[in-house]
Formats: sequence, C-alpha cells, structure tokens
Amino acid sequence: MSVLFTNALVVTMDDALTVHENGWVHVEGTTIAALGSGTPPEVPGAEIVDCGGDIVMPGMVNAHCHMGMSVFRGLGEDVDDRLYRYILPLERKFVSAEMVRVGSALSALEMIQGGITTVADMYYFETEVGDVCDKAGLRAIVGQTLADFDPPDHRNFDEGFARVEELVDRFAGHPLVMPSIAPHAPYSTGRETMARIALWSADHPDVPVQMHLAESSLEVKWALDTHGKSTVAVTAEAGLLRPNLICAHCLQLDDADIRMMSEHQVCVVTNPRSNGKAGRGIAPVEKMRNAGLPVGIGSDGAMSGNTLDLFSQFAPVSMFAKLFAGSRKPLPAVDVIRMATIEGARTLSLNLKTGSLEKGKQADLIRISLAAPRFHPIYDPYSALVFAAMPSDVTDTMVAGRWLMRERKVQTLDVGKTVADANQIARQFKAEMDRIDRQAGVEEVRP
Ligand SMILES: [Zn+2]
Repeated sequence: MSVLFTNALVVTMDDALTVHENGWVHVEGTTIAALGSGTPPEVPGAEIVDCGGDIVMPGMVNAHCHMGMSVFRGLGEDVDDRLYRYILPLERKFVSAEMVRVGSALSALEMIQGGITTVADMYYFETEVGDVCDKAGLRAIVGQTLADFDPPDHRNFDEGFARVEELVDRFAGHPLVMPSIAPHAPYSTGRETMARIALWSADHPDVPVQMHLAESSLEVKWALDTHGKSTVAVTAEAGLLRPNLICAHCLQLDDADIRMMSEHQVCVVTNPRSNGKAGRGIAPVEKMRNAGLPVGIGSDGAMSGNTLDLFSQFAPVSMFAKLFAGSRKPLPAVDVIRMATIEGARTLSLNLKTGSLEKGKQADLIRISLAAPRFHPIYDPYSALVFAAMPSDVTDTMVAGRWLMRERKVQTLDVGKTVADANQIARQFKAEMDRIDRQAGVEEVRP
C-alpha cells in the first residue's frame, strides 16, 4: 500500500525539529519512504490524501496506562476511601479475562480517536490486552502485573510468573505487541521478589520492565520503616533499578534519588492528571529531564485520570512544571510535544521505530484538523498542539501504514458494541456499589 499525504503542516519531531510547511509524507507499506516540503514527488499508484493544511505529526505515545480499568472511569469520584470501599472489592469480584477485554477495547477506541499510536500498559489478564491491541492495530507494550495484595489473576508470585511466561510465549516476535513484566510497586512486590524479577529480567533483556515508583508518601514511609532508606534505594538494592526500567509517577524523590535513577539510566513516565486528581503531588519533571532521564507522558488508568488521550495531559504537565518553578519558562510547549512523541518512544526504547516522522521509520502518524477557531492564529504549532488541540481534532490515525481511523471513522473496532459492552459491565458495578453502601449503612456518599 502506498499513500502520499500532501498539503500538510508536517511536524516531524526529528532531532532538528524540522517542520515542513506545505509538506508531504510518502508512506510505502509499513514505513515512511520519504517526506519533505514543496512539490510532492510523483508516486505511481499511490493514494493521494490532500490534507488541506492540516497538521501531520507522529502518532503519540501513551507511556503508562491500565487499559482494562476504563470500566472504572469516574467510579466513586471524590470519595476519599474509594480504593478500599469500592475499587479493590470490585476488582476482586469482577476482574476477569472478559472484563479486561471489554475495558481494553474501550480504551483502544478512545486512544485511536485521540491520536495515540503506541501504548504501554500494565494490568491483569494481560494476554487479553495484547489480543485487543493486536485487533485494534495499536503498537503496544503489554505488562503482566505482579503484586502481593491478592490480585485477581494470581494467588502468589509463582502463578504471576507463570502468567508472564504465557504472555511472553504468546507475543514473542509479534510485529506490534511486545510482552512486558510489571511489578506493581516496590511496597506491593517486596525486595525479595524485585530481586527475583531482576534475575529473570537479566535472562530476558528484550522484555521491558514497568513499575510504579515513588508514587505516594505512604510508599516513602514503607521504605523508611521497612528498610531504612528511600524506595528508589530499595529498588536499586534489589537490582531492579536497571537501564530502561520504565518508572511511572516518580513524585516523591529527593536529589539523591534522581541522581541514582540517572546513574542507572532508568526511564520515567509522568501522569499529571492522575496525580493531580489524587492530590498526590507534582513530579519534578524538569529536574529529572535536566539529570538526563527521558520522561514520557502517561494517562494512567481511566479510574485515576478519566481520559486516555494525551491532549488533556498537556495543560497539567505544562502548568505543574511552571507552578513548581514559579515561572512561565519551564517545560516549553515544544518539550511537552517531545515528551508525547519521540521522548515517550525513548522511554519505552521504541525511539528507533516510532515517535518521529523520518525516512525509514514506521509509518505511525496522525492528522489533526485545524478547522476549529481556537487554533488561530498559529504563531507556534507546538503551542497550538499543547494548549488548543483536543482529541476530537484528530481525523486520521495510522500505525505501521495501516489506517486505524479515517475521517474520524475507526476502522478496526466496532464503536457501538464496544461502548455497549462497557456500559453492561458498569451496571453490575453499580449494583455492587449499592450493596456495599447498604451494608455499610452509608447513604448519599455519592451521586
Ligand atoms: Zn498506574
């Protein structure tokens, strides 16, 4: 298949930050064959897509997500103990392969519509997530979570490792879906099991490791009380603070932690909406990037941040950095778009394949309509993308040369059925929440 995008504002996100006004991109098969500005080349047999001045840019990288959890979106909003009151009991009772499949399909739909082409996920029944991403056509890292709090798909770490092995066998050599191992967090995995994962990982260097790290003050307290040091130091001691470890959140860090993370060349994902809604704090994104750590942006699960696009993360990620520093200057718009594209891809070690529009890279790209008045005038395309663009402006999404969405019509998933299936599960959740509230004698704790 050969496609020639013409008449586009091509935002490449290459090293030189090349922007082609009146630009064109030639996609041949799964890759970008050529791109430039001015008169496009003659490509016999190519489908011509006249973009009418729209932006064409790399598909975005959602570097931390829990796709299966979108069925929990907005559940128990503003109830301070909702995790223990509703979510853990609901997870224990209802999380199944089927639920994960339904939630993941809803998430895949939302991400395709929001211009995301690569996602890093961690949750349970992760082979289901991999199957959904395969069907949806998304590039994905799918991480089987390991945890000690009676999770829904393993009773102990041996069973958890068996699930990881199953996942690795299933997706070995898949062109888009990569298996991953995902210890939930230091406090819920423990130093011994983290050490076991580090050993396993040394034998499986191509399998990415994802983990929540330094997310809350409770985690900091756990590390201090149990081991007398920071949670980053405990992770390092277990041998898990290794190059390319994908660390989500990273809120509760001191300078020594950041130095240690930099020495071990880990990668970081910031989740501003999720963190802000939970009142957890602000990640020191500028400090981490200045220390040489690549930082991607993640939506986290829809239970925490509600939406799974990156546009709705841009204002908080930018504003948090500016508020943190008390200045307008930190984290300029271009850096936010870097984090959402090439730096996010670097965070997942996928930067040689995706994250920028360059000859020879995978054709993972999106088209963004500039029809809405809120975009204009455009002095700086990065500012327009960070502060004016919305998911609904994305008209087309392509991964490895395959259309996942064309003119707002998703090509790979059934929108009506996917949404209906998710609402069916929500009805079961609501009934169980009512039962929990009645049992606790609670009235009107939630709308
Ligand atoms: Zn998370």
